[in-house]
Amino acid sequence: MPSPSIDIAQQIKSQARSLGFDACGFAEATPVDAEAVARYDRWIELGHNGCMQWAANHRDLRRDPSKLLEGAQTVISLALNYYPARFQPHDALQIAYYAYGRDYHEVLREKLTELAHFIEQITHCTTRPCVDSAPIRERYWAQRAGIGFIGQNNCLIIPGKGSYFFLGEIVTTAQLPADAPCDMTCGSCGKCIKACPTGALNGNGAADASRCLSCLLIENHDEELPDWVPEVVGDRIVGCDECQRCCPHNAHATATAIEDFSPTETVMNLTRDRIQGMTAGEFKRTFAHSAISRLRYKTLLRNANLHEKCK
Ligand code: SF4
Ligand code: SF4
Repeated sequence: MPSPSIDIAQQIKSQARSLGFDACGFAEATPVDAEAVARYDRWIELGHNGCMQWAANHRDLRRDPSKLLEGAQTVISLALNYYPARFQPHDALQIAYYAYGRDYHEVLREKLTELAHFIEQITHCTTRPCVDSAPIRERYWAQRAGIGFIGQNNCLIIPGKGSYFFLGEIVTTAQLPADAPCDMTCGSCGKCIKACPTGALNGNGAADASRCLSCLLIENHDEELPDWVPEVVGDRIVGCDECQRCCPHNAHATATAIEDFSPTETVMNLTRDRIQGMTAGEFKRTFAHSAISRLRYKTLLRNANLHEKCK
């Protein structure tokens, strides 16, 4: 007979699979280790969080999951595949795959909430689902929970599956058996460092967000971007997938089964004229349930105009 906690752990993992999650692992909810804390603090000190000022906030919460949920015993890390089944045509303005379909915050939150309810029912413990917005070190916990490792491209790489995954966590007071941390590394590959069009990757598994197109095109809402951006932006308008596309771990990525992540017709046919002719109201309606709504109307327009500068 398996012990109750192992049986419960298996039930949780099985329920996660049936909800569509591609990976699920458990880590003991102890504070983040000193080396990882120092790495994060250094990243902030160097200003490599760029315009993401929020990343410098709530550092005490990021260091200790028990500050997110009193009595926390376990961090459950979960991954959801978003690799698209079909792609934008080459002549469309390019959107990062993660933003092709419905806003992942909505999709992930629904699934995490359902799983959290299930956990509460079978363990009689409390849970806190975390979707991006909570100050928790997502990739760190995914690595500790054995799901994958943090690549030189700063993404969580799941061995055999790649990096096109959304991550979510459930912090819980349930004591669950911890999985062995993933100890894989990139070795001497370095392909993403060479492929990055802006030199944002430093080879230490961290990205300088002040140079990263993903950050600049999505999080930065300044009227003007640095002068060098039009030179390197190419046909990208929302985010950048370059350091994932070139990664050998993504060579055999399989398409997501989640229909919500399929590209909308707007995404499939996005042209500069279409964006420049869009009103603020139309932007709001068109992207209401898309991750693109995070950009705001003026930022999308600014990005579309960048392509005129680089002609
Ligand atoms: S997303 Fe693009 S700009 Fe940012 S690190 Fe990756 S390749 Fe470089
Ligand atoms: S491209 Fe190579 S170095 Fe970069 S994340 Fe993938 S395996 Fe690691």
